[in-house]
Amino acid sequence: MSDESSNTLVNYISTRGRAPVLSFEDVLLAGLARDGGLYLPETWPVIDPETIASFAGRPFAEVAVEVIGPFTGGSLTHAQLTEMAQGAYATFGHPATTPLVQIDPQTFVLELFHGPTLAFKDVAMQLLARLMDHVLTKRGQRATIVGATSGDTGGAAIEAFRSSERVDVVVLFPDGRVSDVQRRMMTTPTETSVHAVAVKGTFDDCQALVKAMFNDHAFRDRVNLSGVNSINWGRIVAQVTYYFVAAAALGAPDRKIVFSVPTGNFGDVFAGYVARRMGLPIELLVIGSNQNDILPRTLETGVYEMRDVVVTSSPSMDIQISSNFERFLFEASGRDGDLVARQMQMLAQGRRFVLTEAQAAALRMEFGAAGASEVEVAATIRDTLSASGYLLDPHTACAVHAAKAVLETRGCGDTARVILATAHPAKFPDAMQHITGARPGLPERLSSLMSAPERYPVLNNDLKDVESFVEKISRAAGATA
Ligand SMILES: *Cc1c(COP(=O)(O)O)cnc(C)c1O
Repeated sequence: MSDESSNTLVNYISTRGRAPVLSFEDVLLAGLARDGGLYLPETWPVIDPETIASFAGRPFAEVAVEVIGPFTGGSLTHAQLTEMAQGAYATFGHPATTPLVQIDPQTFVLELFHGPTLAFKDVAMQLLARLMDHVLTKRGQRATIVGATSGDTGGAAIEAFRSSERVDVVVLFPDGRVSDVQRRMMTTPTETSVHAVAVKGTFDDCQALVKAMFNDHAFRDRVNLSGVNSINWGRIVAQVTYYFVAAAALGAPDRKIVFSVPTGNFGDVFAGYVARRMGLPIELLVIGSNQNDILPRTLETGVYEMRDVVVTSSPSMDIQISSNFERFLFEASGRDGDLVARQMQMLAQGRRFVLTEAQAAALRMEFGAAGASEVEVAATIRDTLSASGYLLDPHTACAVHAAKAVLETRGCGDTARVILATAHPAKFPDAMQHITGARPGLPERLSSLMSAPERYPVLNNDLKDVESFVEKISRAAGATA
């Protein structure tokens, strides 16, 4: 980021074309656009080939500043962004932040799970927390973040915001329905700005409560409610960094690379699409789904059609609406917000819509896709372990499976491929034991997790109960400020 580019204003527009144009700072705090759409920058900044080549061997935080800086407009200085990136990635337990591990002559695993909660969501959340604190401090405001989690997002949010000066976080999780490791990551931090709350209900109940709080406008204003789910642009942009880091380490821009990505909400793989728009020569982006294969089906048929969610060994991908796919639909239609709004309305009413010819063609050109059955996930984990000694978690295994299924037929059989490893296998000990017969141990630095005292209230599935809890802890509401 040069000093000139940091002063160029970047505008953000909604995928449905009817929301106000916002600045980077406003987009961070807004999350969803007022017309129901998702925000994207008006134009894509481009990084020239010499700069891409220069990323090889540089610290992760430095590359993050180069990649993210052009999106921030005039809201941050180079020094401020550098300090935030260094703070964010100092929380990682590996000197390379996201190391590459070679598992066969062509295949490299990009380990994104060395953050505090052992899943890739730490990469974005750690930076987002610092960015939000910065904006709120500048504006003299406080905010309250409320989210629902089925496991990974809640822990990453609590870890990221635990020392926040400006933000209180409340994460709702379904009582008794997250793993012990996942629950303890949310309930053992001792700071009073972060709160995990067990709700007597399902994940869907938790999500419905969050939605109801956002729709209760008086409450929303009282606590200055904000969100950090995967549609927040700040999370997407922070994920672009590791595509550049990995590709440069393997010889980009002179060598083309394939990326294969475990995919649920389409946020991570969309960050790869952004990297490509910014000039990174990516040969193909592979969407690795589990049995919930709405995206592979869409690529094949040109019809986006929801089915019921199936429970799998890769729970963070057990979803049927890939929210960030809307961003790609907007891009692939020549940024036709009216069309995207109509398609999303059809989806809400009839659980399906048909892609235009142009959207379907762009989808097939930019991406490959395959879904893995539970049998295929288990076979991939066992085969990889016996061939290379490397232990994949079930999410990452879906991406390995998809790369195998897709690359030969797409003419990329000889291209070097990077598999994004989104979780550490120790985060899913029961599934791993079932598949391999052994329980992977937690990394040394988390050795106290299973014995640290927990703290969390158990609340009824009741909006008033949850709202009064949030209001009690919210500093934005003036309770303890
Ligand atoms: C969230 C998550 C995913 C899916 O990422 P999206 O950005 O939603 O596609 C994959 N693997 C793990 C371990 C996750 O936590």
